[in-house]
Amino acid sequence: MSDDLTLPGFVNAHSHAFQRALRGSAGGGDFWAWREAMLELARGQSPHNVRTSYEAVYREMLAAGWTAVGEFHYLGFEEAVAAAEAAEAAGIELVLLYAAYGRGGLDRFRQGSPAEYLRRVEQLADKGIRTGLAPHSVRACPRDWLEEIGRYADEGDFVLHVHADEQPREIEECIGEHGVRPIELLAETGCLGPRTTIVHATHADDRELDLLSDSGARVCLCPTTEASLADGFAPVERLVQRGVGICVGSDSNVRIDPLEELRELDGVARRGALRRDLLSAGDLLCFGSDEGAASLGLTEWPEVTVDLEHRSLAGIEESDVPCALVYGCAGDVFSATEP
Ligand SMILES: [Zn+2]
Repeated sequence: MSDDLTLPGFVNAHSHAFQRALRGSAGGGDFWAWREAMLELARGQSPHNVRTSYEAVYREMLAAGWTAVGEFHYLGFEEAVAAAEAAEAAGIELVLLYAAYGRGGLDRFRQGSPAEYLRRVEQLADKGIRTGLAPHSVRACPRDWLEEIGRYADEGDFVLHVHADEQPREIEECIGEHGVRPIELLAETGCLGPRTTIVHATHADDRELDLLSDSGARVCLCPTTEASLADGFAPVERLVQRGVGICVGSDSNVRIDPLEELRELDGVARRGALRRDLLSAGDLLCFGSDEGAASLGLTEWPEVTVDLEHRSLAGIEESDVPCALVYGCAGDVFSATEP
């Protein structure tokens, strides 16, 4: 057996790097209690500590096989620039998904209007930072914000990422305010299209999943975080049945390991379908790389090298390596990519 093998690098389509700092805390009885701890952490961020701590997190990602990351950023403009500098220093490909936040959260998250938000997006792009649109959620963005951002997305070349259907309460509030569910509202406001990625979609109903399929939108699943935050089970089988593209993200970064994300995703699929073959190892590796790149609008990103001498691959034929990676290895089987 030769001593190395290269594969397309893993693409982390959804990260909040600062949340890595919460991994040592049990943190609250449900998602909403965890969110309070997360907001407290967010409150204390500065450009300086984003620059330092994000570089460390991005180096961990590279060491685990993620070679590109979509950073879903809602900490403010100067911190966004610092995040891009951290990615550059670490040597990871970054797409800065700059969040639009119209209401709720902290002062630092919010812009005064959709026009102010879009000006910020253009300023980041003008600095040479690869930037995407990210209306945070239907909680944080009123209908007129979604309409304006949807229109802008339609005219430009930006990808659009948005959290939706992570928790039942968000759906109940959306129905109360708008009379429709979150993905239905995104469709109505022009935010669903082939460059859209819905993050989570955990509690999406069949009609919402049909809308995703009809529009060519993707879903980003964040399996280790969705487990950690007690979000529920991703509708993997119903997404696969509809041919909706799936990518993955490390989200809260409680774990940084693309293989663990894919294995947890496959575990959810198998438990739901009562079958072992809903997804192949090849499907899962594609979710982890090509689908993530497409979600972020990337056409080129670095490869990873598999250490075929690693103890977790002992006795495995080279033709069986893809399965062994997905079902039996951790990200330390990949060599770190040097910038
Ligand atoms: Zn998120």
